[in-house]
Amino acid sequence: MTQRPPYLAGLIGTGVGPSLTPALHMAEGRAQGLEYVYRTLDLNVLGLSPEQVGEMLTWARRLGYDGLNITHPCKQLVVGHLDDIDASARTLGAVNTVVFRDGRAVGYNTDTTGFAHGFAEGLPGAATGSVVLVGAGGAGTAVADALLRLGTAHLSIVDLDVDRASTLAHELTDRHPDARVEASSFDKLSVLLPNTDGLVHATPTGMAEHPGVAFDTALLHPDMWVADIVYRPLDTALLQAARAAGCRTLDGGHMAVYQAVDAFALITGVAPDAARMSAHFRDLVS
Ligand code: NAD
Repeated sequence: MTQRPPYLAGLIGTGVGPSLTPALHMAEGRAQGLEYVYRTLDLNVLGLSPEQVGEMLTWARRLGYDGLNITHPCKQLVVGHLDDIDASARTLGAVNTVVFRDGRAVGYNTDTTGFAHGFAEGLPGAATGSVVLVGAGGAGTAVADALLRLGTAHLSIVDLDVDRASTLAHELTDRHPDARVEASSFDKLSVLLPNTDGLVHATPTGMAEHPGVAFDTALLHPDMWVADIVYRPLDTALLQAARAAGCRTLDGGHMAVYQAVDAFALITGVAPDAARMSAHFRDLVS
């Protein structure tokens, strides 16, 4: 029997040196008995521009890579260099995982599938009919699409950058015509939150370098759930306030782990042990 060569994967982006993703993938590979090498491919270190992501894909394929994760600032740029793209990634116009299979480069977005899988695991049975999303950036966009696939019928989007929230609301309305998606302002939260099933926070506020909470937590109430996608730290000031208000909560580790779980499965074709990857992730960030 011929043995397959070690799995080979990498993460393309800028400032990816401290990423936890290589450690997560390789530890799961070892636990599965796979030889699995996962490298960071930092554009700054390599002296490459984001626009050269297509060349990097060509070389990765020639060099025998099985797959790549793609992060800032290449998630949109990479789309034009693929042979095929999964439907949810196509809808988003952003790809964070590329798999080389049968000579073809196929793009996926495991940020959006990862949020959905993490949500289902961490907040089972939670109502999703009406949701407020705070933060309309790259991560917020992936979360919004996941929520609409999870059945959200009314999505309100709030961002400091009002134009960004409006643009996202228009794009989502085009993609999900059955849902009501609207941009809203911070002063409307006092009207929106009493009637919402839940809130997802997707701005950098609450990260170690941006402490605090993006809105007035006095508006939280026990009939709503609160999900934060910030995961450094895992227990943010928002989640502490939400627990104190009696809300069910979901930390950002769920999305972070499941984007890696889904990418591992796509790159290796082997189903990872999500609980083991989650325990490893929580060790790494604690
Ligand atoms: P981004 O820069 O693309 O978008 C951030 C958005 O937040 C912007 O639209 C900005 O205007 C808005 N914003 C900033 N401060 C705000 C405030 N106080 N109130 C309202 N809006 C505000 O960033 P991103 O890539 O979307 O990442 C956002 C956060 O999500 C980061 O903390 C990142 O670490 C986290 N993230 C987590 C995961 C995960 O897997 N859990 C994945 C991706 C990103």
